[in-house]
Parts: sequence; C-alpha cells; structure tokens
Amino acid sequence: MNLHEYQGKSILKSFGVAIQEGIVADTAEEAVEAAKKLTEQTGTQWWVVKAQIHAGGRGKGGGVKLAKNLDDLKEKASQIIGMQLITPQTGPQGKKVNKVLIAQDVYYPGASETSEFYMSVLMNRMTGRNMIMYSTEGGMDIEEVADKTPHLIFKEEIDPKVGLQGFQARKIAFNLGLSGNAFKEMTKFVAALYKAYDATDSAMFEINPVLKTSDDKIIAVDAKVSLDDNGLFRHPDFAAMRDKTEEDPTEVEASEHDLNYVKLDGNVGCMVNGAGLAMATMDIIKLSGGEPANFLDVGGTANAARVEQAFRIILKDPSVKAIFVNIFGGIVRCDRVAQGIVDAYNNIGEIPVPIIVRLQGTNAAEAKKLIDESGLKVSSAIQLKEAAELVQQEIAKMN
Ligand code: GDP
Ligand code: MN
Repeated sequence: MNLHEYQGKSILKSFGVAIQEGIVADTAEEAVEAAKKLTEQTGTQWWVVKAQIHAGGRGKGGGVKLAKNLDDLKEKASQIIGMQLITPQTGPQGKKVNKVLIAQDVYYPGASETSEFYMSVLMNRMTGRNMIMYSTEGGMDIEEVADKTPHLIFKEEIDPKVGLQGFQARKIAFNLGLSGNAFKEMTKFVAALYKAYDATDSAMFEINPVLKTSDDKIIAVDAKVSLDDNGLFRHPDFAAMRDKTEEDPTEVEASEHDLNYVKLDGNVGCMVNGAGLAMATMDIIKLSGGEPANFLDVGGTANAARVEQAFRIILKDPSVKAIFVNIFGGIVRCDRVAQGIVDAYNNIGEIPVPIIVRLQGTNAAEAKKLIDESGLKVSSAIQLKEAAELVQQEIAKMN
C-alpha cells in the first residue's frame, strides 16, 4: 500500500526522523490557513505548495511550487488542486490532485548553501536482507544516476540479528561527504529512518531529497512510503491512510473480495488458485505466444461465488480476448469449481470470450465431465500440456 507524502512524513516524524514540516489542505482557502499556521509554528517566510498524488517527479510536472507571499500561495494552491498532474511516473493521462501539502521552505537562504542526497530503505532480494541505498546525487532521477554513474550509489546491508549498527550510520554520513554537526545529524537521521522502516513493516522508503540545510540540519524533504500489505494487519491505524482513488478500481474491487488481482498488459485473462501456480500459468501463456492480461489468485477456498466474482473482474478488462482457468484441486474439489464456472456462466450471461479450463487434482474427471456436458462454450483439459495447446489455438485465432 502506497502512501501520500504527507502521510509518509507523519509516520517518519513519529519515529523521530526530521522532516520538512507541512500541513495538508483540500482547498485554496485551507492552504492559506495552513501557511499562516506553519509560519507560527516554524517561522518560515516562504512556503512550498506540493501536489499529493501517488507518483514521483511532481516537481518536473509543475506539481511543486514555491510561494513567497499569501496571495501567490493562494493562486498556486488553486492552480494545483484539481489539476490533472502529468509526471514521468503517472503515464500520459496523469493523476488528479485532490490535496496539497503546504510545506515550510527549507532551502533558505538559497539553494547554493544546501546539499541534496538520495536515500532509500528496502529489501535486497538477492541477499534477503534490508539495505539502505544512498547517493550524493539527490534531488534528481535516481534511475538516471544508476544508469550513468552507478559508482555514486552506495549500499549498506543490515544484519537482521543485530540491526543497524552505529558504525554503519557513520559510514553513510562519511560517504556522503559530511562533517561536523551535519555528520552527527545524518547518523541520527539514518538510525531513526531505519527504525521507522523496520517497525512499520514497510516494503520501501524512498527519501529524495534528503536535505542538508544551510544550518546543517538533515531533513526529509520528500517521502515515498510503501507499506507491506501482508504486514498491515499488525498496524490497524494505517488502514485509514489508504487512498482508494489512487488505486486501480478493478484491483480495489478484487481486494474487497479477497482476490489477489494484478492487472497486466496482455490479452489472456487468468484465473488460478495459488500464487505459484499463477506464475507458472503466466509462463505457459507466454510460451504459447500469448501475453497474460492479469495475475489472479482466487486462493485456497475457490468456491462458486468466488469463481463468479473472479470472472466478473477479469471481464472488466476490455483487452481480455480469452480466459484460462487453471485450478489445482488439493483442498478444493475440482467438481465444485467446475460447478462454479457453470453457475458463473449462467449468472453473468453470455461471456463474450473463449474459456479454457484445466482442472487437475481431486475429482478432476468429474469436473471435466460436468463442463463438457454443460453445453457451454468452454474447452476443458486435465493435463497442462493439453490446456496449453488449447490456449495456443485461441491465441492463433486472435492474431
Ligand atoms: P518530487 O518532484 O515529486 O520528487 O517532489 P519533491 O518533494 O522531491 O520536490 C521536488 C523539488 O522541489 C525538490 O527537489 C526541490 O528542488 C524543490 N523543493 C522542495 N521543497 C522545497 C523548499 O522548501 N524550498 C524550495 N526552494 N524548493 C523546494
Ligand atoms: Mn522527490
């Protein structure tokens, strides 16, 4: 689950990470009130109006603007609220801005006195350990830094048995070229950041830029926080931070039915039980010359109602030209799933695309019989090879 910058920053702050302070606003009037309040709290003379959307690169797209007086701030806030913001990460259709964060100006007295760093915390899947990735080249596109000057990106891995060690935080501050008070501030920043990441069961933190201010404070100017959905049950207070308007509507509907659905770009819809089988099924589709339209795991309790719901979700995607149902009956009985498919077919009405069903495991033969005798336009198979051939035939017809 991704969070907005203002939500991510509130989590960071609660763990003692120094941040660029800000107050969120829904309207231009609220933005002015927020600015006044922020000046009372922090003494800031200028403010930054920052669009809150789940995408980076907002500055480049005109979603981050500095305001030097309240009239200017009101005008910039009213421009940004409601705009369709296009950034390198939103795609050409952009994202609608519903809220802005009014933030204190932290680049005083001028940008030349400050330094911008990059820092992220994430899992290194090669080693199975968390790591802190950081660079002196902050404030810009990190993918470009990785591409052109990879030696400027450093990695520090954390041993899960002992956690982040003091020497590691000092090494990071040293590699970032800091000394004196800024060095000390950076070691505190890194320690608090890692603690926040660990304690919130996060999947990724990305702070770009981490700023060294002209008076040697180290603060998070931006915050991209992604929480691990599988850890959310341990943090019920985070559930309220979910902004469904930022998510794919079909994925939201699927999660409401406890279906694991991820939309992809291809044209063969998949309905599978179990994540491993789902991945194998997507491979089979690719090997047959097709492209999967989605990942969909109906889970271990694939009953008739869930199968029907899964069909409805797959069919919402207009690029789906065939559906491949691949179910392994372990705990679930294949004939029950087959009945679910027949019911779904009857309840939904005419399903406009060919369906290939492969049911293997408990009661597979009964299931095949049920489908073959139902009179529906569904091809059934028991062996994966047969099923793949059927998929291949359908793909050949499409092309
Ligand atoms: P992003 O473009 O979505 O990554 O949004 P950021 O929060 O990283 O902000 C983009 C850029 O706005 C930063 O790299 C800064 O150059 C600029 N910016 C952010 N905060 C301030 C501020 O307090 N003062 C000034 N002058 N510029 C800022
Ligand atoms: Mn940024």
